[in-house]
Amino acid sequence: MIADYHVHTEYSDDSDYKMEEVVQDAIAKGIQEICFTDHVDYGIKKDWEEASNIPLKRKTANVNYPEYVREIHALQKKYQDQITLKMGLEFGMQRHTIDQYEKLFHRYDFDFILLSVHQIDNQEFWTQQFQQGKTPKEVAERYYEEILYLVQNYKNYSVLAHMDLIVRYEKQGSYPFEKLKPIIQKILEIVIQDGKGIEVNTSCYAYGLKDLTPSAEILKLYHDLGGTLLTLGSDSHQPEQLGAYMQETKQKLLAMGFKHICTFDKMKPIFHSLED
Ligand SMILES: [Zn+2]
Ligand SMILES: [Zn+2]
Repeated sequence: MIADYHVHTEYSDDSDYKMEEVVQDAIAKGIQEICFTDHVDYGIKKDWEEASNIPLKRKTANVNYPEYVREIHALQKKYQDQITLKMGLEFGMQRHTIDQYEKLFHRYDFDFILLSVHQIDNQEFWTQQFQQGKTPKEVAERYYEEILYLVQNYKNYSVLAHMDLIVRYEKQGSYPFEKLKPIIQKILEIVIQDGKGIEVNTSCYAYGLKDLTPSAEILKLYHDLGGTLLTLGSDSHQPEQLGAYMQETKQKLLAMGFKHICTFDKMKPIFHSLED
């Protein structure tokens, strides 16, 4: 089956893709299930209520939650015979924003939560603000320390999204996996122990990365440690990305020895054979 579990819409401040168009495009592409995972980035973005003076509902603000929930429920009903739609969010977490996510998680009935790290100390990666003045070693170590802290202190998530995201923004060369292996292993052990999983993010193809996201080395380590819970997500913000490269990626996962891919319902994983 094809289930895209990382999908952005116009409820994210970096996408104009209308939610109903996403649904119609997914049906046209033969995707059986999608989970909406629009952005919430506490610490650097206003929440939608505080941003009410901003004319567009999504401008530099987090998801308009009541409207988001209402529209997903309406679309679930309207398209129930054609596609399964799930309600998630992408939590762009930092150690000082944990409490805000904890509250948001309990406000609605989510199927699925992506735990992402997009910023540290309110400094963005994609603008290089965080990396500036740091060596590749400092950048990589600080990034994984943040993830480790989060998985130790926050449990209401489903999978770690794009676990080695930091390599996407590397300008000064990469820091070797072997040196990071101990901390990555620590993170993965907690993830597995807590019954959580990791995402395979197929945007690596669009970004022209040579490796998968996370890298084959991280995926192999996860497999060796006994990890079995994986989701596939395109991280789409526009039509051509939706559901992209899912089949190729499934073949690569099978070759690494993985057997299943997961969907979620009310935060509970459902395992499907990778060969289906
Ligand atoms: Zn992300
Ligand atoms: Zn995303």
